[in-house]
Amino acid sequence: MLKHMTLPLIAGALAFGAAHLPAHAADAAFGPANPFYAPSSLPFHAPPFDLIKDDDYQPAIEAGMAEQLREMQAIADNPHAPTFENTFVAMEKTGRLLQRASAAFNGVASANTNPTLQKVRASLAPKLAAHQDAIYLNEKLFARVAAVYKERASLKLDPESLRLVEVTYDEFVHSGANLSPEDKAKLKQLNEEASTLSNAFSTKLLAATKDAAYTAADKAALAGMSEAQLTAAGQAARARNQQGYLLPLQNTTQQPDLASLSNRLTRETIFHNSWNRAERGDANDTRDTIARLAQLRAQRAQLLGYSSHAAWKLEDQMAKTPEAAIAFMDALVPVATAKAAKEGQDIQQVIDAQHGGFTLQPWDWDYYSEQVRKARYDLDEAQVKPYFEINNVLEKGVFYAATQLYGITFTERKDIPVYQPDVRVFEVFDVNSKPLALFYCDYFKRDNKQGGAWMSEFVGQSKLLGTLPVIYNVANLPKPAPGEPALISFSDVITMFHEFGHALHGMFSNTEYPSLSGTSTARDFVEFPSQFNEHWAIYPAVFNHYAKHYQTGEPMPAELVEKIKKAKNFNEGYQLTELLAAAELDMEWHALPASAPLQDPDAFEKSALEKKHLWLTAVPPRYRSSYFSHIWASGYSAGYYAYLWTEMLDDDAYQWFDDHGGLNRANGDRFRSMVLSRGNTEDLSALYAAWRGSAPHVDAMMKYRGLEDAR
Ligand SMILES: [Zn+2]
Repeated sequence: MLKHMTLPLIAGALAFGAAHLPAHAADAAFGPANPFYAPSSLPFHAPPFDLIKDDDYQPAIEAGMAEQLREMQAIADNPHAPTFENTFVAMEKTGRLLQRASAAFNGVASANTNPTLQKVRASLAPKLAAHQDAIYLNEKLFARVAAVYKERASLKLDPESLRLVEVTYDEFVHSGANLSPEDKAKLKQLNEEASTLSNAFSTKLLAATKDAAYTAADKAALAGMSEAQLTAAGQAARARNQQGYLLPLQNTTQQPDLASLSNRLTRETIFHNSWNRAERGDANDTRDTIARLAQLRAQRAQLLGYSSHAAWKLEDQMAKTPEAAIAFMDALVPVATAKAAKEGQDIQQVIDAQHGGFTLQPWDWDYYSEQVRKARYDLDEAQVKPYFEINNVLEKGVFYAATQLYGITFTERKDIPVYQPDVRVFEVFDVNSKPLALFYCDYFKRDNKQGGAWMSEFVGQSKLLGTLPVIYNVANLPKPAPGEPALISFSDVITMFHEFGHALHGMFSNTEYPSLSGTSTARDFVEFPSQFNEHWAIYPAVFNHYAKHYQTGEPMPAELVEKIKKAKNFNEGYQLTELLAAAELDMEWHALPASAPLQDPDAFEKSALEKKHLWLTAVPPRYRSSYFSHIWASGYSAGYYAYLWTEMLDDDAYQWFDDHGGLNRANGDRFRSMVLSRGNTEDLSALYAAWRGSAPHVDAMMKYRGLEDAR
């Protein structure tokens, strides 16, 4: 996943949705003593986390908003006739203080939060939304933007500048710049409420997830877990000043621990904790929040002239319309569910052979599918993990693949300050040994870290601003007990390659304008470089280089490698089905018209999934509505399908590499120059087709996911 800047002008701001801004009050509390006051003097303008205190963020961000508003107003009030330079280029240069303060804040508030930062976030959410509105709904400013836009064909602009004009103009219109003054006021109100609700959702969910951790007084309930898992569970309990063992919840419906737990009651309890985490009728129940948020988004879309939130969101995406995304998903449903049903039958056979005497339930799936995996492929996760020590995976796998493809190299920098001691920093060098970027990684799970994994940036690349990228990856991999190595699963390996694919997209950016830089692309394109990068995890020349035993250094035995490859598409039916269910659910929520009544989330969820033939006893959606953070708080609303859409792109792209000699510098350099360095500087369908030689096709996806036989 990727933490995205929602609106290009508001670099770094999260998807908060609008109000009035105390433009002067903030300036007073902000002065040279604040570490954000001047641009960072660290290499690459890295945030000075050694100097930043929790109470520095709010005054800096508020002063940053005020500064940007003054800069924008100066552009709007310019007595000279509007030109590309004095309007578009000038706008690109605004908001530097806001950018550096909010980028650092977003990073820390998501990955290492605390009650102070949560309060700051809640207080800033509506102000940031109001700030966006103050720019996009500024009539004088829009008049200049529209004037240049109208004349764009005769201005002899270079292609990137022309793209900037079109993208910026569309953003203004998309944000309501063409509305009447009364409707603009209404829009601001809706945006403000939406941002407050999104933020409330995040805060509730974090607390609800923490509360729903499974606790056990003794080991008996945890039969099946390894010594290392038990030690980690003991540590997790002590970290909360509790006795016994504690299994924290991951953000998904299914919990990785279920694969090893042999006690059925424990599994069922953990599953119910997960499924009901945000529906317990207490202060952290999110159902009212999301029901209102869905309604409000529909009302906002109507105000902006769209039939639904989804129609509004998809207009500037590769898919263009909800209908196109839905048709793409609907076509996958029968293939995915047929494969999942077959997998379920295999599992039921194991249960019956062991005289289980019960019908497969979701909490049994991973435990027994692990046994099917063992029986069929003789593959044991515990046997595999010693070959995936995290540092090997990172430096000899993730980094190595990038070196082979793109010629870049990495050196750890211990002198760059970090926001938490687990964070590591690397300087990335280009082919010619010139500095290219800084890369931070923060891989281990913490209770104060939002669930899942993501990439974002502290500094974006821009030739205009003379900045090089400062990128970070965050994940929630299990933290080993002190002194123990971090041995991770193959799916964790994939997560690292995935997030690093986003990182490459950010680091290779070579654009003039910050708005068009790096990962500032459509949502249904942005997961393409990340998912594409996953392919190298299993590529022989890469895999053999990193998959070495953490104690002996021996490479993984050939027969074990063979098993991993054979098992790669194992459980694919389940995974595709749970993803499709979440993606269809997202689209159903956001296809609601403004006239729809306030929904009961549980009833809505059930009927939406039934309609799509995805209400399945044994295969629940990857996220339930009440804890679907991607769509309520992380900017993926009406956009979760993008993971599948970009799956089509990444498999299709990998097919090109496969047809042209695989992993080598020539292929890497071509991909870098035609795709990864281009940001949003060209229409993305055209950009893709120029590199690929044709439009993307779903065939490669069917092949790589082993779905051909189910078709
Ligand atoms: Zn991603």
